[in-house]
Amino acid sequence: MKQEEFLKWLRSIELKWQKLWKEHRVFEAEPSDKPKFFITVPYPYTNGPLHIGHGRTYTIGDIIARYMRMKGFNVLYPMAFHITGTPIIAISEKISRGDPIELSRYREYISMYTKGDHETVSNILKSFTNPLNLAVFFAERIAADFEALGYSIDWRRKFHTGEPIYNAFVTWHFLKLNEKELIKRGEHVVTFCLLHQQPEGEDDIEDADINPVDIIEYVSIKFRLKNSDEYLLASTLRPETLFGATNIWINPDATYVTISWRNERLILSREALVKFKYQHPNDNVTVINEIRGYELVGRKAYSPLGTELLILPAEFVDPGNATGIVYSEPSDAPYDYVALMDIKNNPVKLEKYGISIDEVKAIEPIKIIDVPGVNGHHAEIIVKQMGIIDQRDPRLEDATRIVYKEQFYKGRMIVEDPVFKGLSVQEAKERMRNRLYSMNQAIPFYEVSRKAKCRSGGEIIVAKISDQWFIDYSLDWLKNSGKKFVEEKLIVIPDKYKKSILNTIDWLDKRPCARKRGLGTKLPFDKDWIIESLSDSTIYMAFYTIVHHIRNAGLKPEQLKPSLFDYVFLGLGDPVKVSEETGINVDLVEKMRREFLYWYPVDLRHTGVAHLSNHLTFYILNHIAIFGEEHWPRMITLNELVIREGDKMSKSKGNVILLREIAEKYSADVFRLYVASAANLDTVLDWREKDVLSVLDSLKKFIDIASESIKANCRKPMNRLIDKWFFSRFNKLLREASESLDKMEIRDYIQKIFFQFLKLFDKYREATCDEDSYCITRTVLDKLLKALNPVIPHVTEEIWEWMGGEKFLSLQNWPTPDDFLINDELEILFDNLDRIVDDLKNVLAVYKSVKNTAYIIVASPWKREAISLYVKWRDTRKVIEEIRDKYGLKGREQEIVSVVNQFIKEYDENIIKTSTELEYAVYSEAKNYIEKKTSLNIQVVWEEEARSLNIPRANRAYPLKPAFYIE
Ligand SMILES: [Zn+2]
Repeated sequence: MKQEEFLKWLRSIELKWQKLWKEHRVFEAEPSDKPKFFITVPYPYTNGPLHIGHGRTYTIGDIIARYMRMKGFNVLYPMAFHITGTPIIAISEKISRGDPIELSRYREYISMYTKGDHETVSNILKSFTNPLNLAVFFAERIAADFEALGYSIDWRRKFHTGEPIYNAFVTWHFLKLNEKELIKRGEHVVTFCLLHQQPEGEDDIEDADINPVDIIEYVSIKFRLKNSDEYLLASTLRPETLFGATNIWINPDATYVTISWRNERLILSREALVKFKYQHPNDNVTVINEIRGYELVGRKAYSPLGTELLILPAEFVDPGNATGIVYSEPSDAPYDYVALMDIKNNPVKLEKYGISIDEVKAIEPIKIIDVPGVNGHHAEIIVKQMGIIDQRDPRLEDATRIVYKEQFYKGRMIVEDPVFKGLSVQEAKERMRNRLYSMNQAIPFYEVSRKAKCRSGGEIIVAKISDQWFIDYSLDWLKNSGKKFVEEKLIVIPDKYKKSILNTIDWLDKRPCARKRGLGTKLPFDKDWIIESLSDSTIYMAFYTIVHHIRNAGLKPEQLKPSLFDYVFLGLGDPVKVSEETGINVDLVEKMRREFLYWYPVDLRHTGVAHLSNHLTFYILNHIAIFGEEHWPRMITLNELVIREGDKMSKSKGNVILLREIAEKYSADVFRLYVASAANLDTVLDWREKDVLSVLDSLKKFIDIASESIKANCRKPMNRLIDKWFFSRFNKLLREASESLDKMEIRDYIQKIFFQFLKLFDKYREATCDEDSYCITRTVLDKLLKALNPVIPHVTEEIWEWMGGEKFLSLQNWPTPDDFLINDELEILFDNLDRIVDDLKNVLAVYKSVKNTAYIIVASPWKREAISLYVKWRDTRKVIEEIRDKYGLKGREQEIVSVVNQFIKEYDENIIKTSTELEYAVYSEAKNYIEKKTSLNIQVVWEEEARSLNIPRANRAYPLKPAFYIE
């Protein structure tokens, strides 16, 4: 079959088995007396088609689900869809506005999924002006993509997070959080969108998943202008450097404003004013006048420490960052140092502002921080080292970071002030900040860590909300039990990620949990707010256990009262009363409770590493807050992301491979095999077309072998050494593959049971013949198919059917290796055989003319025995006596010494794990194989025999290293 035909065939059997699984409800999981395994992967967000990065995570989830099912567990692998929040609304808005990029992108997506004409596509696109339509459209398509990849999902339990029944569940969730005093309301700084006039988080901000936006607190210090009651607000991240302030920098081209605020007059940039207002939402802020930056240059101001400072011009000051005014501390700040040098060398500029050149030349850095090993001004040293001469040089950022890091960890204050003298920079920073705030000499000013826009293009700033709702993850009892649980009970694979979860619990604080806008569930305490997407997705796994009952019974959302969930999930209350209150049949109430108790807790949550510091940690803490300890999560596994041909996938690069294309273009099983085999869970998977095609070739080869094996007409018994070796290898591979899978080392498992099996087959075939290799494969095919089913379920089901296998392979038991067939001695000897063939080839290469016969001379049994005895006794003299007497080697003692010495020198423990008889037998049986590989006529002879025939070099024979003589 050509590749194209092969793919077509693969596709056809994949559809066939998907249909059969569905018809026979193979993956619908009901409580039973079997042990259960409940595995979940986060439900996808449905604002568009998914790509192969998502596919990796869901595929690994499915491999584990299928494996556990075959291990005898009753496995539940459910799926739902996440539509909460603003991203879907943002896209819908852009489509309504006629945004050309979004329109063409979504037109393309729709066309991928519908065979319809232009008009059909346009109508669907038009329907997307209602965000719910968009969400549901992609939810349905993603479900179809998952089916096309053969995922063993129980689809009866699917839902989306905008459904009223789910809203009822999340309402209960938040009532519980409130009972536990996790819900708070109050003042809070948040990332805020100026366009939408609402707080927006990592889900709404463009690229925030890759490049997070944090909130940074600047200390904005008040410097009173000389002969005035107005204060310049100069911002810093390092208030302890105030001791070394030498002047103030103003951007001469920027516009500043004087404002009246709390009976004070403050000066800050026009850009900063907007943020200032949002950070003091309850205050009156009036603008008194506007001033150009150059108007302030040349004036003087006093620092809170009393020093008089000159105001100088500097281009590096960004009016869009913090208050747009900074003070200069050239000893420790590379920017300040470079700007000071600049201006000292620019008398023309100073003249323009009427500033005395001598006055500026007199400004010198003041050393206030001592760092061991740094002699002189730290900023100056670094700037000179890096060769920076211009204040616009972007490397100044790096220089700043380097100085700051060293000073933060190693620096000590060397100032006169007795409170600060000798303090570490770290302590001094805290103390100065608190002192300035408490004496009303500074105020906090919040800024985003990088310039950011929301997905609809709105500018993101930091605002203070006075009535923000949040979940308080900073509660001591919650943090403590969270950390204890993660450290002692939770299994995390790969293990290194446990630390990240613990760190996250450490720094987690109050987290906004609702917005004024978005899809999802209304906050039960305040219907103007919608619960946001990282807050409504933490305990929904519990909902999977009962959602199908809710649907089957046609329950109304109003019936899903908190008392129902209290009983079903927490065992609180009385089922009869619940039944009376909700109008739900009491048997159904009990049934839901039983089903929850059967499936919970979640045995495994598998997801991508990007979820570590948010979703996964919330998942753990919400379970701890709400459920009994017996229902807390058991295990978490994680995988890294997917890149393509060495490059990150992104919409803008146009190199994203969508899940939709996979089944048609590569087939589900090739995708699954590639994803499973190409990388370990904790490494990035690089999608390389060339490698994918080579996996496809391997799969084709496997199918050919299986098909030939089933057809083969086999009567010969399989009891040669080579057959025994094959069985040993196969069973060992099977055993090791199962062990790897138990440790979630999926790559190791599939490498062994698939790729190494193919190698085993090749080697066996080379040593025997086609017919034998098919016949022997036939004997292990049953086990092999079962062991491969989790990764290539369609192909293995098909071959299982060819074999006349019963029912569905997916429901068979995991194969157990026949440990009694594992024969290490034989494996050592067959591995050694390869070495012998190579050695022979090397010897041959030395000879110029064609040689005919080669003697393989097997060492006398006494040689191996001498080595065994030496290992046992460690006494050469004793060994010599024993061997000499036992084998009648009087006069040949020197030979015994040589053998022992060679062993000491080369030390090969395989010698004592093998017997001389089997070594001879393996070479004898492999005679034809060696002949084939070397084109020689092979004679296998015993050493003693060779000696009696005067064959040269016979005495050199050594265990596992036979002597060769080529005629
Ligand atoms: Zn926005």
